[in-house]
Amino acid sequence: MKPVIFNNTVLRDGHQSLAATRMTTAQMLPACADLDGLGFGALETWGGATIDSCLRFLGENPFERLGKLKAALPKTPHMMLLRGQNIVQYTSFPDDVVTAFVKCSAERGMDIFRIFDALNDTRNLVTAVKAVKAAGKHAQGVICYTTSPVHTVDMFLQLGVELEAMGCDSICVKDMAGLIPPHIAHTLIKGLKERVKIPIVLHSHDTAGLAGAAYYAAVDAGVDSIDVSITPFANGTGQPDTVRMVALLEGHPRCPTGAYDPGVLQRLRDYFSGVYADLGKFTSPANERVDSDTLCYQVPGGMLSNFRNQLKEQNMADKFDQVMLEIPYVRKCLGWIPLVTPTSQIVGTQAMLNVKFGRWKNLSQPAIDILLGKYGRTPGPVDPELLAMAEKKAGQKRIEGRAADLLEPRMDKLKAELKEKGFPATDELAVLHAMFPQELAKVLAPKPAVAPASPAPAAPPSAAATPAVPAAPVAAPTPVIGHGPGKKYNLTLGGRVYPVSVEEVA
Ligand code: MN
Repeated sequence: MKPVIFNNTVLRDGHQSLAATRMTTAQMLPACADLDGLGFGALETWGGATIDSCLRFLGENPFERLGKLKAALPKTPHMMLLRGQNIVQYTSFPDDVVTAFVKCSAERGMDIFRIFDALNDTRNLVTAVKAVKAAGKHAQGVICYTTSPVHTVDMFLQLGVELEAMGCDSICVKDMAGLIPPHIAHTLIKGLKERVKIPIVLHSHDTAGLAGAAYYAAVDAGVDSIDVSITPFANGTGQPDTVRMVALLEGHPRCPTGAYDPGVLQRLRDYFSGVYADLGKFTSPANERVDSDTLCYQVPGGMLSNFRNQLKEQNMADKFDQVMLEIPYVRKCLGWIPLVTPTSQIVGTQAMLNVKFGRWKNLSQPAIDILLGKYGRTPGPVDPELLAMAEKKAGQKRIEGRAADLLEPRMDKLKAELKEKGFPATDELAVLHAMFPQELAKVLAPKPAVAPASPAPAAPPSAAATPAVPAAPVAAPTPVIGHGPGKKYNLTLGGRVYPVSVEEVA
């Protein structure tokens, strides 16, 4: 029996789930040699919220980050999370932008593209899959796992068959909320292994404490690989940590015995503990612990903790339970859509509006767009009365075709806009400009000699899928914290990390 392969998420989902995606490239680089040498099947280094975070909070060009990480991690395949037609944003983009984004990422060294659609509408994956194949890279199609009266194991199996037929090189069962119970994981993975020939990955979160057991069951059922991370960017709302997973599989015929050197893992743990402490403004004990609350409400853990903050801001802290109970109702009316970026935010906000103003008194634009089919085909039918209301409000009928077919190509226009602003009209900058125009402009603007303290930025719309962390005010410089031997230190100033070296003077 082949040992199960571990993929490591510490450089993407690990800090997205536990530190609001704030790990900087400078904080990643010192760990790269160790991470690259451990023999992980893949390293998730990019995508998801990291691109938004690079631009919005860290003042980094995300493509330059990818280039640096590729140079520092040359041996292990790099993996990224791509939101299909939404790329790494929250709305649909035209095919030419999706294609250009994939091409640029491939050129910078991305190897495996894990592509999902929040609605599991495969029409939203087709363009990205084609672009990945055209670039000669690995296209991993995703099944977003969720629970609802319309989501059955059979439905997921059918989706798996469809993904293979589309030309995907592997399939990821993405359990973004950490809801998959071991027995279901076993049934689903076994069923997929019987129906498709391509490798299967299980990605889960330990939010409710199920991931370790679910992984074990999946390994029993023949899953090819599982996603793990490194403590302290692991467990809780993140992936189970590597050491724990090896221990959990001890004695199992598929245990990767002898792989993942414990000494190196310990060194990485020590290193990342320092980084975790440096990111203390963005971490929270609520994300670190296993909490079965997520099971009660069936919503992702990150969304739960984020919601507590949002409700506080709205002076609705006492309405938490009411809003949580409204979420399944909103989901039902919107066709039982899974809760993952961006649908988690759309459903959560609508539930809040329903509680605050009365049901459907205030229908948000994204909710209208879901009803009108602009995000794709919903898993179940939407509420007919609500659809009529949305059609009337929007003055248009529900669309049945693929939403992106209605979008005009944009690359030429984006490049013209860049030129007008005096920025280089490259494909990389054009795709970033398409998704994050203001944030990109700020990053490209000439920097003053001394970085001034800037006001705390607002939370991104993706915040529902990331752990809740109030944007911390930029205060006095944090103390210098060094890691390991040597005299090189990172100085964190205004949320940015500056590598400095310290010399002893007599
Ligand atoms: Mn995840």
